[in-house]
Amino acid sequence: MNVTASTPTVFDVQRIRADFPLLSRSVHGKPLVYLDNANTSQKPASVIEAVNAHYRERNANVARAVHQLGEEATAGYEGARDKLARFINAPSRNELILTSGTTQSINLVAYSYALPRLKAGDAILTTVMEHHANIVPWQLVAARSGATVKAAPINERGELIVDKYLEMLTPEVKLACVTHVSNVLGTVNPVREIARECRKRGIALLVDGSQAVPHRPVDVQALGCDFYAITGHKMLGPTGTGALWAKREHLEAMPPFFGGGEMIREVRFSGTTFAAPPHKFEAGTPNIAGFVGLAAAIDYYESIGFEAIHAWEQQLLGYATERLREIPGLRIFGEAPEKEPVISFLLDGAQATDMATLLDLQGIAVRSGHHCAHPLMQFYDVPATLRASLAFYNTREEIDAFIVALLKVRKLLM
Ligand code: PLP
Repeated sequence: MNVTASTPTVFDVQRIRADFPLLSRSVHGKPLVYLDNANTSQKPASVIEAVNAHYRERNANVARAVHQLGEEATAGYEGARDKLARFINAPSRNELILTSGTTQSINLVAYSYALPRLKAGDAILTTVMEHHANIVPWQLVAARSGATVKAAPINERGELIVDKYLEMLTPEVKLACVTHVSNVLGTVNPVREIARECRKRGIALLVDGSQAVPHRPVDVQALGCDFYAITGHKMLGPTGTGALWAKREHLEAMPPFFGGGEMIREVRFSGTTFAAPPHKFEAGTPNIAGFVGLAAAIDYYESIGFEAIHAWEQQLLGYATERLREIPGLRIFGEAPEKEPVISFLLDGAQATDMATLLDLQGIAVRSGHHCAHPLMQFYDVPATLRASLAFYNTREEIDAFIVALLKVRKLLM
């Protein structure tokens, strides 16, 4: 998608905001300006109502009961799988494992796909711009197997050096990993191109889609990757929901990660047989109400459409970037030409946490810290940044309020 910051769009943001109850609250006596959407998004009333209605009207466990409530709860949970599969254009609902989020999705691949294949001398390739969820699980399985974790570099603008990434896809690499969109820089990585090159070399590719799915349509078949991990709470859904899409051939070959109820065919002390994917990977009682909420979140996205969402968010990103660039001494981290609406920055001479605290007193919620991306902080040689991350329910007026508050903070701290 290529929408410039100046594309005029008719987007009824006030009507949309009315669907998000939390957006009308105040903080420290000031109207809330919520710019921490990459951390977790706010939820529309339809999602909150769906969770509420599940507990009020349909609460039962899934796949265990023949009674009416059990059937309704199962239909809600399995219906979410159908919606999620369609949402990312998975070829089959059976290739979609419902998890507690990206962290669990990636750990599942680490322990169930990577670990059994890794031996001393092998490698896993990731990048310097990853969230810790796409680094630490690889380090854990590398330590157990004698493999190593390699990280492809980025440039000062916060772009992946793709040639270098491809050069690092050497025969020892048993799995390649990359984030679709950086949670700190907003950079959109060329996943299709990377996937094509991985396929040529027979290396499986895992994509961390946490920061992509809230902003753009994702088609895992068009991307051509092997694994795609998503988290529900950043895309209007409840916390503790997410998914892993994986190609059927991988899921069939992978042993289960968790053992317990619901993932078996038959249990005997002489040997247990397992259910077919996806249930083989879903031991125990899942977050049923959460997934019912996530299904409602997908309905909400579809009622607006990603074309309109993307165009509006790109306008906001362009406007916010322009306004921030006017502030003397302000440095933006991440200036790739294709970005999602995430802006990390620092002001000369000011600590990120002090600034976030002072902004909070004015009702502005931004994140400060390392954003679970220590290697990226090390690359830029800073301990932390401030991060303003936008969603389609944000407005230009909120960006104006943010800039006014930031200028006040600057005066106080300079
Ligand atoms: N990957 C990226 C790029 C993220 O931004 C996040 C969350 O911030 C995660 C992974 C981890 O997601 P979760 O904590 O929902 O599992």
